Amino acid sequence: MKDRQPLKILLLSAEVVPFAKIGGLADVAGSLPKAIRALGHDIRVAMPRYGRIDPQRFGLKEVLPAFPVPMDKQMEEAAVLQGSIAPDIPIYMIENAKYYDRDGIYMYPDDAERFIFFCRTSLEMLKRLGWCPDIIHCHDWHTAIVPNWLKTIYKDDPFFAHTATVYTIHNVAYQGIFGYRVLEIAGIGEYGFMHHPEMADLTEVVDLMARGIFFADVINTVSETHAQEILTPEFGQKLDPLLRDRRERLFGILNGIDYELMNPATDKYIAQNYDVNSLEKRVHNKLALQREANLKEDAAVPLIGIISRLTDQKGVAILGDVIDHVLDLDLQFVLLGTGEPHYHEMFSRIAQAYPGKAAIFLTFNAELAQKIYAGTDMFLMPSRFEPCGLGQMIAMRYGNVPVVRATGGLADTVKDFDPRTGEGNGFSFVPYDRWALFATIVRALENYKYKDTWRQLQMRGMAADFSWDASARKYVDLYYHALAARGKEAEPS
Ligand code: ADP
Repeated sequence: MKDRQPLKILLLSAEVVPFAKIGGLADVAGSLPKAIRALGHDIRVAMPRYGRIDPQRFGLKEVLPAFPVPMDKQMEEAAVLQGSIAPDIPIYMIENAKYYDRDGIYMYPDDAERFIFFCRTSLEMLKRLGWCPDIIHCHDWHTAIVPNWLKTIYKDDPFFAHTATVYTIHNVAYQGIFGYRVLEIAGIGEYGFMHHPEMADLTEVVDLMARGIFFADVINTVSETHAQEILTPEFGQKLDPLLRDRRERLFGILNGIDYELMNPATDKYIAQNYDVNSLEKRVHNKLALQREANLKEDAAVPLIGIISRLTDQKGVAILGDVIDHVLDLDLQFVLLGTGEPHYHEMFSRIAQAYPGKAAIFLTFNAELAQKIYAGTDMFLMPSRFEPCGLGQMIAMRYGNVPVVRATGGLADTVKDFDPRTGEGNGFSFVPYDRWALFATIVRALENYKYKDTWRQLQMRGMAADFSWDASARKYVDLYYHALAARGKEAEPS
């Protein structure tokens, strides 16, 4: 094992900012490497070269001409292009027209095959490049097969003799569940299904995330609280028995936010730049937002914002149950989000029922999002579950006070304000219950009346460090831990 020497790390992800993004995974895969590199490690990234990624625009150059990759019982050709995420961080793009030359990224019937090919090519590519990583860092179901391979078909391969795996779960709800055929395509048919006494399903399906959890040297999810939550049936999405077995290898590391992009002092989208020393200027963003959103211009009225996917996960159901009561109070409300059609209907009704008081934008708009972070007083996230959550961290960076349900990463980042001690940086509630949400909004509104108190809350959020630096150090510790844990592994069953 290397003792705190600089490491070589290959990060595998199906999405990476700025090349292809569907969700938060892309943000992590695009920004974590920069922070790891800044700590002195040689980190490189690999992803598929989807049809929508223009090689010219990103200056991609062929680094490996077409070579054969084992797939199923045959060989399939792949080439590798190379670009960069930052000056010292190469990104390898796996090229194969049949699998990736399509309009979208996911949701194809052969997704299992497409991502198995991506993973297999990435491993074979390393040998051809002669670059042997200490760590392969896999993310979500798309790359979960890699730890499985390193303990089976690559077990005796001297090239990978010292390589350890880290498996990061961003959302345990998406596991990559397929049939037996996938094992044959991956070349591990002879090992058959997995077996677990408390997970009967595993003898009938191939659950790729379960394999990542079972075979990786260490596992993590994206907040400490969520790492505990997924050990329970309530949050584990049926993987909790396996996660409990592996709990000694399971960790929680909070995602960071990009402090350069998310900066009220330089943000190009907002009406008035400001920082913690010029918080009084922030009100101009509120007035500009009220104008843009057709709300009554009023610096004093509390303005609540929400930016969210409109899904059950985000607690939109309990919000919908009390929204009329909330809008009876003396406040304004602005929502930006897209999601399930019944929630679109619900908020369309709200927009009609409360003109001048509630502004509803049922669209995806990155520019408007920044205006809402900078222009609202409170930021609402009543999530049912939340592995990490970025919105509350961005809000605090912008001097916006979060009102959240204490679950997952929200519990780790937002501490409920206690007027007796003056401690806390926002407002939170525990039971997933409409009246608990309502009471917490009321509590936030009461405190909003005390300008000094409120200013303290704003400043505390702005002073907190939610940058990647602290989390990247924890990932580096995790990498060393994986190297130490390697070899002390259960044999495949
Ligand atoms: P999740 O990844 O589960 O959707 P997060 O809070 O981790 O939730 O990240 C959501 C990110 O997407 C935040 O940066 C938020 O500002 C942004 N976002 C969500 N919905 C929209 C939207 N409709 N328009 C613009 N940005 C959005």
